[in-house]
Amino acid sequence: MSLTLNRPDLLRAQNFIDARWRDGLDGRVLAVSDPALDLDFARVPDSGAADARAAVDAAFAAGPAWRALAPRERSRLLRHWHDLIMANQEDLARLISREQGKPLAEGRGEVAYAASYVEWFAEEAVRMHGDQIPSPSPRRRMLAVKEPVGVVAAITPWNFPAAMIARKIAPALAAGCTVVAKPAEDTPLTSLALIKLLEEAGLPHGVVNLVTASRGRAAEVVDEWLADPRVRKITFTGSTPVGKHLARESAGTLKRLSLELGGNAPFIVFEDADLDAAVEGLMAAKFRNGGQTCVCPNRVYVHDRVHDAFVGRLCARVAALRVGPASDPASQIGPMINGRAVDKIERHVQDAQARGARVMVGGDRVRDEDRPGPNYFAPTVLVDVDGTMACTVEETFGPVVPVTRFRDETAVVALANDTPFGLAAYFYSRDPARIRRVSDALESGIVGVNAGAIASESAPFGGIKDSGYGREGSRQGLEDYLQFKYVCEDV
Ligand code: NAD
Repeated sequence: MSLTLNRPDLLRAQNFIDARWRDGLDGRVLAVSDPALDLDFARVPDSGAADARAAVDAAFAAGPAWRALAPRERSRLLRHWHDLIMANQEDLARLISREQGKPLAEGRGEVAYAASYVEWFAEEAVRMHGDQIPSPSPRRRMLAVKEPVGVVAAITPWNFPAAMIARKIAPALAAGCTVVAKPAEDTPLTSLALIKLLEEAGLPHGVVNLVTASRGRAAEVVDEWLADPRVRKITFTGSTPVGKHLARESAGTLKRLSLELGGNAPFIVFEDADLDAAVEGLMAAKFRNGGQTCVCPNRVYVHDRVHDAFVGRLCARVAALRVGPASDPASQIGPMINGRAVDKIERHVQDAQARGARVMVGGDRVRDEDRPGPNYFAPTVLVDVDGTMACTVEETFGPVVPVTRFRDETAVVALANDTPFGLAAYFYSRDPARIRRVSDALESGIVGVNAGAIASESAPFGGIKDSGYGREGSRQGLEDYLQFKYVCEDV
């Protein structure tokens, strides 16, 4: 099926380096496939080290002029980019849905979410205050000045192809940094379209450069950036093993790192919770993007006293979810990103069953004439889940809710924290003292209290422990692209 866009020129097939659209230097190509059908529908460059180096050459050369520009001018560029993103929301949503599989309504939501970060950092660009430090003598002036860190390499995952790149490029530009970027191999088209709009917004030569690469060559591109001392920061969103690899390999040039890595979010329903609100919150947190989000609940703990009532209501909602292609406006759960993802989900469900969990809803792949592709998995609820099962230890990254019964607050908080990860955690309770106690005790970068949808451009998003460090969004999101210079001035 062809991809119809109001602006066909947003479908790009080349890298963007030094303000020019270029093929990869060695001519290799990467096929982009539609996860609904598992069929290729577009091609982009499969770039290598030489393309990566050319991108850094351009970003490095563009640095001095870009950082010297008045913050208000950088802010204007971002504002213009934001307006163009929103003016092309429908086309961008179609690109996201086609290459990533999320329902079109969610695609539109993601575009607005991505744009919200661009707008936020357009506003923050003019508020990068430093400090004047009280001086011991009238002759001496002591200043702490904020400066951009320099060339930033941005590496993004496939699950939010617009939002992940926008919330890296926007703060980098606001801070006065220049950028080299590589989107995920499954979803390069949305980022290329965003860069096309950034070019239209008036991006100066070399300030942002983007290269695409296959999974096989991602390491070649990124290794080039890791080794290059001109690249001063890596901002990465993706899996924990790749994040740790970047931390190790960037040590040689001591780059700054922002790492937004995997999660294993607990979702606790206490006996005093508003059960309807808890079901609503879980549906919102768990099933967005078919469960393929880093903050989606991966373990659900429900108090014994409300367990059966909660599970009954949850199952009714989950069974009613409509699985189908993004092109069908009725679809609520799209295909998973690829065959590897579906295999993992299936393995988790089968492992749980083999260890004593029961499937209340779903439990299998879905394939029929309305959903002919191989990548659909039925929204699933498992009960009698325990901590030995793979679905509670690893990120399932799919539409599976594993439910565990608990009786004691201290024990359930210990279970919630019993993971190397610490990105998001959620709980539902109406007891103010418990709300304070449990939010303090949860080891997590983000805590949702009676709230399932928690992301916002104005809040610091990020994790602790194996979920990484650094924050995106909010004031902190800009700080990660700035460094202090202490200026000691005697006159
Ligand atoms: P991934 O780590 O496989 O890939 C992420 C990026 O790293 C891609 O661009 C990929 O090409 C690149 N990459 C892969 N191998 C590399 C290597 N050896 N060297 C350099 N780069 C390499 O992750 P994914 O499967 O695309 O994304 C899913 C993961 O991302 C999940 O774990 C999810 O939790 C996490 N995630 C985290 C957040 C967050 O904000 N914390 C947000 C979204 C996704």
